Amino acid sequence: MKRICVYAGSNVGNSPEYAERAQRLGEELAARGIELVYGGSKIGLMGIVADAVLAGGGRAIGVMPAGLFRGEMRHTGLTEFHETANMHERKALMAELSDAFIALPGGIGTFEELFEMLSWSQLGIHQKPVGLLNVNGFYEPFYNMVDHAITAGFARESNKQLFIMDGEPTTLVESLVNFTRPELENKWKQLSE
Ligand code: AMP
Repeated sequence: MKRICVYAGSNVGNSPEYAERAQRLGEELAARGIELVYGGSKIGLMGIVADAVLAGGGRAIGVMPAGLFRGEMRHTGLTEFHETANMHERKALMAELSDAFIALPGGIGTFEELFEMLSWSQLGIHQKPVGLLNVNGFYEPFYNMVDHAITAGFARESNKQLFIMDGEPTTLVESLVNFTRPELENKWKQLSE
């Protein structure tokens, strides 16, 4: 596994554990020689992961759309920096560059990126693993929401095998490296009846 894309909050959250776990994820990537692909910001958990990767001697690649974010938010010490025309191009490039995805705690922006990669995985557009760093049970409500969709007949049980949830950076990255994609049932129940 050469590169992992990390989606993370552009804020740090209100518990020190979020920052601490983001820091350890960055250290883990650097120690394994796995390059970081991320949104290119110096603020929030995003900046903490990138700084930890760089401090550990690793490579951090930023991908940011031109003009959307204020200039001072950009991390200027990255190994590589790509500027894209818009958010769609940015997310496509981040996905293309990466062999796996990890979502840290974050807000709407993080959710959007996470859901896009899960949706593309479900449709077979990519076969790459998706991991959720479940700091302080942050992603429990997400898991319950997926369960709720399954119970209500809008998603398949096998969808839960498309992602791995773990609170520990070390074991999460290990699971992504060893991930075997599940055989998915037909997404559309009416077509298999
Ligand atoms: P949020 O979770 O709402 O804080 O949004 C975080 C996600 O949205 C990141 O993974 C980025 O891709 C994008 N994003 C939000 N704010 C910024 C920023 N200041 N600089 C770069 N990307 C950002």
